[in-house]
Amino acid sequence: MIDEKVRVRIAPSPSGNLHIGTARTALFNFLFAKKNHGKFILRIEDTDAERTSQEYVDNIFDSLKALGLNWDEGPDVGGNYGPYTQSQRFDIYPKYVQELLDKGFAYECFCTPEELEAEKELATKNKQAYVYSKKCENLTEEDKEKLRKEGRKPAIRFNIAKAQKAFHNSSILEFDDLVKGKLHVDTNLIGDFVIMKSNGSPTYNFAVVIDDALMEISHVIRGEDHISNTYKQILIFEALGFKVPKFGHLGMILAPDRSKLSKRHGATAVSDFVKEGYLTEALINFVALLGWAPSDGEEIKPVDKIAEDFRIGEISSSNSIFEYDKLKWMNGQYINKMDLAKLTDLALPFLNMYDLNKYTRKQLEKIIEITREPITLLKDLVYDTQYFFEKPDYTEVKELLNSDLSKDVLDKFTEEVKTYDFNNSEELHNKLADFRAYFKEQKGYKPKETMWAIRAAVTGRTRGADMVAILELLGKDETIARIEASRKI
Ligand code: GLU
Repeated sequence: MIDEKVRVRIAPSPSGNLHIGTARTALFNFLFAKKNHGKFILRIEDTDAERTSQEYVDNIFDSLKALGLNWDEGPDVGGNYGPYTQSQRFDIYPKYVQELLDKGFAYECFCTPEELEAEKELATKNKQAYVYSKKCENLTEEDKEKLRKEGRKPAIRFNIAKAQKAFHNSSILEFDDLVKGKLHVDTNLIGDFVIMKSNGSPTYNFAVVIDDALMEISHVIRGEDHISNTYKQILIFEALGFKVPKFGHLGMILAPDRSKLSKRHGATAVSDFVKEGYLTEALINFVALLGWAPSDGEEIKPVDKIAEDFRIGEISSSNSIFEYDKLKWMNGQYINKMDLAKLTDLALPFLNMYDLNKYTRKQLEKIIEITREPITLLKDLVYDTQYFFEKPDYTEVKELLNSDLSKDVLDKFTEEVKTYDFNNSEELHNKLADFRAYFKEQKGYKPKETMWAIRAAVTGRTRGADMVAILELLGKDETIARIEASRKI
């Protein structure tokens, strides 16, 4: 247990649907908060107005909720540290920019985009990493006045060297990462970055510090792609006299080919996984295993059990591979174990191309019950339940149906089936057993060969759900009609 008050946050930018990687970051923050009786906060970082949209904000809300990652404070639920949407916080930032200017930790920069571009090109030409030249660091008031008269509006840059010097003994900035251990950088390699653009809007690295500080965030847990930002942020925390939070950076999630996980590998947004028929319970369990391992080796676990076992210091610092096949397998496990009524609710929208009114709710549940076993995705049900809703397609079983064995079996079955009581599953079961036994004795047909012929005639398939249940669901008339149709192909 951690002594201090734990407050963690997830701060997605709504420039796309909730990414599965962000879901993992959210989960680890959520678990950390739970474990330490802390608060989990949702902040929407929508400062980049051009790339953000309400549709994405809604998707982020819905996806996190569907995964069970409910937040204690956030744009919709409020809290004492709001607003929780960055674009509503714009009047908060100028005061802190001014404070940095007054303390000499920031300066006005009048460079035009063209001038900056030229600097960058020169660096590229000289094969050097680009670092801003600090051309504007020591402008006099007169210089600035002149530039203003030209119509230039300044951006504000953070003065890395000044801050580093004020709070550290050398140019090396080090911090103790909760996941990766000690990390450091030579701050001479970090350019003075813009904290407020000339149009008055704050940049990510600045707004995030002010928000984390004012929201009293104790631990910042996020992807390792932010490590280079963390150095910049630490210096801003220090320059403004804020307490520096603890940082923990998670390894990246890579595709099986070890490249960055992207759409060409499969779904990447939580909502796209759901559309394909992944259950959110399986998804959240699966992402927990990307960097974390249960102490008892039991991988299939609901989130509350994971929370009991979760320790941030045990998160692997290396990258994780997103194995779609493993996720599919895990999804199948969840599909099999899920409460039938709940699974039916989730499954029916996938079957909306069929006339679901043919069956009662109870019968639909039965269809799901008897077809769920081999499937790994809910959308697999479209094929696996097709013959309950549509006349069988006999293309694949034509040869089988035309065999002498099938003809034999179906000659007799056509007559016998008319005498069966379709409302008595036990009787149906026994009759089918007797039927198989008869052909075994009389003709030496294997029981499974007898059943193949019947299954092919009734469903157009050689594999599928329990035959007694299929017959019961289809009913006598439909079964007879199908057998007759199968004999005419
Ligand atoms: N808005 C940032 C992102 O989506 C947040 C990063 C952070 O956690 O500081 O990457």
